[in-house]
Amino acid sequence: MQSVVQRVKWVVAAAIVVPLVLAALAVGVLGPRAARDAAQATARRDADAAVLALRTKCEAVGDAVTALAREVAAYATAYDGVNQLGADAAAQRAAARRPDSAVAVFDTDGTEPVSVAGAAAGRAPAAAAGYGGSCSLGRAGQPGKPFGLTESAPVNTADDGLVGSVTVWVPLDDAALRALRSGIGSSGSLSLLDKGSRAVGVRSGTAFAVRPPAAGVPYAVRAQDPVPDRHTTALVLGLLALALLGGTLPLLLRRSRRGDEPEVALRRLEQQEAELAASFDRFSLALASTHDLDGLLDTVTSASLHGTRSAAALILLAEHPGDTVALPDAATLVERGRCVAGGGGQALADGLVPFATAAYAAPQFETVDVQELSLADEPHAAVAVPLRAAGELVGVLALARPGRDGGFDARALERVRALAEHAGTAIANVRQHEEARRLSVTDPLTGVGNVRLLSTTLSREVERATRFDRALTVLMLDLDHFKQVNDTLGHAFGDAVLREIAHRLQRCVREVDTVTRYGGEEFAVVLPETDTDGGCRVAARVLSAVRDEPVRVGDVTRPVTVSIGVASFPRQGRTAAEVLEAADAALYVAKREGRNRWVAADAVPPSAAGTGSASVPPARRSHDTDLTTGPSGVPQAG
Ligand code: GH3
Ligand code: MG
Ligand code: MG
Repeated sequence: MQSVVQRVKWVVAAAIVVPLVLAALAVGVLGPRAARDAAQATARRDADAAVLALRTKCEAVGDAVTALAREVAAYATAYDGVNQLGADAAAQRAAARRPDSAVAVFDTDGTEPVSVAGAAAGRAPAAAAGYGGSCSLGRAGQPGKPFGLTESAPVNTADDGLVGSVTVWVPLDDAALRALRSGIGSSGSLSLLDKGSRAVGVRSGTAFAVRPPAAGVPYAVRAQDPVPDRHTTALVLGLLALALLGGTLPLLLRRSRRGDEPEVALRRLEQQEAELAASFDRFSLALASTHDLDGLLDTVTSASLHGTRSAAALILLAEHPGDTVALPDAATLVERGRCVAGGGGQALADGLVPFATAAYAAPQFETVDVQELSLADEPHAAVAVPLRAAGELVGVLALARPGRDGGFDARALERVRALAEHAGTAIANVRQHEEARRLSVTDPLTGVGNVRLLSTTLSREVERATRFDRALTVLMLDLDHFKQVNDTLGHAFGDAVLREIAHRLQRCVREVDTVTRYGGEEFAVVLPETDTDGGCRVAARVLSAVRDEPVRVGDVTRPVTVSIGVASFPRQGRTAAEVLEAADAALYVAKREGRNRWVAADAVPPSAAGTGSASVPPARRSHDTDLTTGPSGVPQAG
């Protein structure tokens, strides 16, 4: 995909750069050359046109002088020679026909003209012999003389022969050259040279062409045409260079960035691999060390999140591993170990629940299930993978990734699979371990905690109460005359009674309280954050819960009562053993005082406090009925 985009970029870059380079070449090199060639051609054309125009002009002057000579000859015939009157008349008429000219009429001997006329007469050379050029002769103009076209003609009469001569001079001054230039449509300039040199070239921004004197053209003609100067070219080139740079710089930059891309991609890949390795390390560590299911699930979800760059991860666990066929509905899944990343992650995880549940319930849920889902109002790629242990389905791991981040590619799926494979076993191990641990602290007959749980719980709670200066109370219970129950109704009935009493005990206490079977038909209850008064209230509640309803097993019912000793931290002891002993002592008092009652231990005497002394602290209060009904006889401890 990326290579196609890259190719397109190359094509676009080429489409921009190539024409620009060609244009730069055209304007920078070919353009000036062509312009120069064109200017030279124009100069040549101008020069040729000027020569032609001059020749035409010369011919006109020749015609004029011929006409003048004929007129002067007519006058001379009439007046027997060239006289002033006839010469003047003829000269003025000729000058009138050519307003730009100077006209002179000579007799045979004079170097001075008999008559001179014309607008240019003032600027005309004094004598025709000295005139700076002759069209008919085709001579080059004489240096130092004003430029002009001169034609002279003899004046002959039939009777006398040569009687004089006439000359017509047309100046080729700046005005004449300007007229000539506009006559030939030249954009350059024209100039005349006394001595022409055959030359064509360019000098300081001007193309020029020189035509040497030729028949009918007395002067060399130089035509000059301007060529685009270097400043213009430089300016155009500069602009083009700027355009080139502007057009290609972003591409070049992008190009260079693209040049970095493999490195960046490599770094990103390395980073990803490192993250993944770290994830797996964490995961392995968790596998090896944790016996905490929630911690393990958090580790698995976070490893799969980072390992696959997902936005949400969810693990659903089957209540009973291996129940793949029997547990095909959502109710069989216990949602745990939810771990989310990024904003809106919880909504994503919530959205994943039905997907994961459905995947789990599907009979063919053997491999990874990938789907496009609309999660949290956004399209997501979702994947569900089974968590297995020894071939049994223990749960499902579901991951979601925003559609814009791309779906789960083969590598990501491979990671998910690998992760799930380890996770399934680890979860099963942890659950087994949890179960073993639970069993190790559970009394198998009644399901409440055993004496080991009592020991660890009480130690922990005493420590906590000490540290935070909190209250803690322990109840010790012993069923009254239980031996008789066994003896009259059988051991099995006795067991059932124990189970029932344990059950009622649990119903009398809070979640945070711990009910344990101390041994035989004795129970101990740990009540954190509870002072003696609170403990007494619980004791009263237990007392009535046991007494008020006979235990029924099948068709047989049997009234049961219990005796309870109540002791609190720190008044009756500062250690678990002390508190337990105090409660036991109070229980002993309750037994002694007639059973079916609770007795609260009195304060530990200062001598005993904190010494761990086994001396039994005195019981102070006792009651054989519910506290709400008030005490009915409060025996004093002996
Ligand atoms: P009291 O405590 O009121 O003084 O009289 P008691 O009959 O309860 O006296 P004692 O503590 O001596 O008797 C305890 C009896 O509990 C003995 C035993 O038969 C019975 N017992 C102990 N453990 C179990 C058990 O796990 N199951 C059954 N069914 N009975 C048990
Ligand atoms: Mg007993
Ligand atoms: Mg007993």
